Amino acid sequence: MTRQKKIFLDEADMPKQWYNLAPDLPTALNPPLGPGGVPVTPEMLAPVFPMNLIEQEVSQERWIDIPEEIRQILFRWRPSPLIRAYELEEALGTPAKIYYKNEGVSPAGSHKPNTAIAQAWYNKQFGIKHLTTETGAGQWGSALSFACALIGGIDCKVYMVRVSFDQKPFRKMMMQTWGGTCVASPSMETQAGRDILAKYPDTPGSLGIAISEAVEAAVTDPKGETRYALGSVLNHVMLHQTIIGLEAKKQLAKVGIKKPDVVIGCCGGGSNFAGLSFPFMYDKINGADIQIIGAEPFSCPTLTKAPFIYDHGDVAQMTPLLAMHSLGHNFIPAPIHAGGLRYHGMAPLVSGALRDGLMEAQAIHQSECFEAGLLFAKTEGIIPAPETTHAIAATIREAKKAKEEGKEKVILFNFSGHGLMDLVGYDKYMSGALSDYEYPEHEIAENLAALKGYPLPK
Ligand SMILES: *Cc1c(COP(=O)(O)O)cnc(C)c1O
Repeated sequence: MTRQKKIFLDEADMPKQWYNLAPDLPTALNPPLGPGGVPVTPEMLAPVFPMNLIEQEVSQERWIDIPEEIRQILFRWRPSPLIRAYELEEALGTPAKIYYKNEGVSPAGSHKPNTAIAQAWYNKQFGIKHLTTETGAGQWGSALSFACALIGGIDCKVYMVRVSFDQKPFRKMMMQTWGGTCVASPSMETQAGRDILAKYPDTPGSLGIAISEAVEAAVTDPKGETRYALGSVLNHVMLHQTIIGLEAKKQLAKVGIKKPDVVIGCCGGGSNFAGLSFPFMYDKINGADIQIIGAEPFSCPTLTKAPFIYDHGDVAQMTPLLAMHSLGHNFIPAPIHAGGLRYHGMAPLVSGALRDGLMEAQAIHQSECFEAGLLFAKTEGIIPAPETTHAIAATIREAKKAKEEGKEKVILFNFSGHGLMDLVGYDKYMSGALSDYEYPEHEIAENLAALKGYPLPK
């Protein structure tokens, strides 16, 4: 008998609604706060985001319709396959059944286009002609450039952290191929960029500086036709990603699995983790017994070591205060290769889920992650993004545990992206040039000292 490796979903069965966790969280979300600790109103966000996305950001509707035009574009690669990791299971000798949702099949190579398409579409609907954004390693910038190309009539400008702009030219070329404009940040094009360059002409840049530039470029457009787009962290981004978990549920049902026992995702800003896990948290809230694990690097231990506080989303403190787990906005990441997992904060919805006991978190060292990535590449065949290897390493831990306990658990993880643009990281690991790094407690304490006097979330 042939065994079924890939579980496909017909296009007609692709979800027609996104799932919003906000109304189901046991403890209500704390509102974002503006200057003076006053809750931010939709009007205050209007220069930065289009009102239709702001409405999603604050929505308490559990189910939100996916516009048919967005579904038509998602069909380019969705529904994404659910894959049974037979070969990995065999290599581990585990009785666990391991499934992964392959988000690496999107044209940009990760889950990020799920929200990029939606954000570009809503902006265009609102009459916006230009989007600005920041990118670190380049995954989000390439996803948004791809989305603008497919939507048409809207263009995108990406402020890419200088050091990545110089060291990782391929993502920049992808952006340009899709018609996006990519400039190194800090740039001479914004006041924020010029100020930094005047002080530090040789700065490598940072995500925080790039965010400041992208927001400034959006809000200073005299025609009012420009808005800013963020690739993770915000509620509407989590929402757009839930199509991943909603598809996975239908796919598991096709092979007779009512529910997974364990659901795993890696956590940077939280969006791919939320996308897979929130639909299962809904079941958990309604009584299902499901263990949900977020995996993060020891070098950026937002969920495992940082407190739940109010903090800014950027170094320049331009964003409102968000209630989230945060290492402090002054956090400077160590140069590990999981570029997408180096953000100081965590999505407020994911932070809330952790506080409410709907999930747990694990920190993992990069050597364990790359080892897991190599095993995955040699068994399942796909080279995972360094971020994704955190989810794989956590999965392997659970599969080994299932072996010790002799339990035939169903483990589901999110394969957030492929690593074909990240081979330099693999090369460094294989040549022994990477070492493990644990972000020291005293540095967290120092970062957090800067937040003295900030309001505290409930
Ligand atoms: C950006 C990225 C991540 C981390 O971002 P989240 O918002 O936490 O999902 C993880 N994996 C891949 C492949 C990415 O590109």
